[in-house]
Amino acid sequence: MVKPISNDPESFDELETKILEHNLERTGKSLICPQCGSNNVTYYMGLKLGVQYQCKDCDYIGSFIIEEEKL
Ligand SMILES: [Zn+2]
Repeated sequence: MVKPISNDPESFDELETKILEHNLERTGKSLICPQCGSNNVTYYMGLKLGVQYQCKDCDYIGSFIIEEEKL
């Protein structure tokens, strides 16, 4: 018996976000909010919109983000 794979969108999004955050750490880039300039930005998974970003400081959510190389 093979257990069915959970297709609960919420847990899937959470996993996807973790993978993306891990990739971001490896590339060494910071995400900068285009609205307030904060780097307190995380990935925000929209189910049909694809990857978007969310600023924790001003609650900006959108697909446009500024990527900055970490020095
Ligand atoms: Zn912001």
